[in-house]
Amino acid sequence: MDGARPPAFRHPWPEPPAPGQATEIAEGVLWMRLPLPMALDHVNVYALDDGDGWTVIDTGISSKKTRGLWSDLMAGPLAGKPVARVVVTHHHPDHVGNAGWFQSEHGADLVSSRTAWLFARMLTLDVQENWPEETLEFYRSAGMAPEILARRMSERPFNFADTVYPMPLGFVRIKQGDVIRMAGRDWDVHMGNGHAPEHATFWSRDDNLVISGDQILSSISPNLGVYATEPMADPVSDWLEACERLQRLARPDQVVLPGHKLPFVGLPIRMKQLIENHHGALARLLDDLDAPKAASDCFVTLFKRPIRGGEYGLALVEAVAHLNHLYHTGAVTRARREDGAWVYQRKG
Ligand SMILES: [Zn+2]
Repeated sequence: MDGARPPAFRHPWPEPPAPGQATEIAEGVLWMRLPLPMALDHVNVYALDDGDGWTVIDTGISSKKTRGLWSDLMAGPLAGKPVARVVVTHHHPDHVGNAGWFQSEHGADLVSSRTAWLFARMLTLDVQENWPEETLEFYRSAGMAPEILARRMSERPFNFADTVYPMPLGFVRIKQGDVIRMAGRDWDVHMGNGHAPEHATFWSRDDNLVISGDQILSSISPNLGVYATEPMADPVSDWLEACERLQRLARPDQVVLPGHKLPFVGLPIRMKQLIENHHGALARLLDDLDAPKAASDCFVTLFKRPIRGGEYGLALVEAVAHLNHLYHTGAVTRARREDGAWVYQRKG
C-alpha cells in the first residue's frame, strides 16, 4: 500500500461518542448516539448549529431513557441553545421516535418527506391489542415457523406507538431536488428508497459532508423488508434504483454520516458494495430455487449464515423482499403450499 495516501475506505473516528457526549465532525456538526434495546444497540443522531438554534437529525426511539439522554445532550454539548428543527431521515421508530416530543415539548418544527410523515403518523395511531388477521396471513404466506407464529400470537403485537412519541399535526415537507440550509451549508436533498419509502439523504454543496440515514451504512447492509401493509412490494427494485442514482453523486473525499455504525470515507466503494450485495443475494437465491421454497426456507442461502432468534423477523421480511423481486421480474413462479405458504420456484 502507498504509505503516503490514506486507504480508500476508512473510519476517521473509530470510537463513537459516549452517552451524553458529542464528537465534532466539522464546524457546527455534532455526532451523538442513543441506545437501542436490540441486537443493533444504538442509533446515530446529529446536531447542526444554525446560529440561534440547532437542527437535530433523527431522534432515537421514544423512552424516558432516551429523553433523559437528550436532556443531558441539550444541557451539555448543545449548550442550552434551543432545538428549533428536527429532521427525520425516515419513518422507522429509532429515527422518528422522539420527533413528536421535540415538537410538543420544545416547540421544534418537524422536517421530513411526506411519505415518512404519513407512515409515522398512521402507524403511531394504529394501536392494535390483538394481531390483525392480515398480519397473521402475511406471516403464514411467508412460511413463518409454526412455533414462532404461535409464540408471537401469544404475545401482544408490537405497536409503533410503543416506541414512538405521539406526533402532533403539522410538518415541513422536503422532497427530491430540494435544497435545505443547515449549519451554514446548503444541502441537496436526495430521496432514497427500499429500506424505507422516501428516505431523505443530505449532500452538502459547501463541503464534503453527506448525511445518509439508513440508506447508506458502512458495515451492515440496510434491511429491505416487505410487510403486511403492502405484501407485493418490491423494495429490492426501489433500493437498486435509489442506490444507482445516489452512486452517481459519490466522491472519494466525502465524509458520510450514517444512521448506525461509524462515519466513513469511501462512498464510491461502499455504493458499489451495497448494490452488488443484493445482486449476489438474488443470484444465490435463484440458483437455490430449483425446488419450491418458502421465504423461511431461504435464510442460509440469502444471509450465508444461520439466523438466530432475535433476527428471525428481519430475516423473514428481507427474504420475502428478495423473492418478490424475483417474482416481479419473472424469474420464478409461485404456488400455495398446503400450510398456506407461498413457495417459489425457478422458471424453466
Ligand atoms: Zn435505523
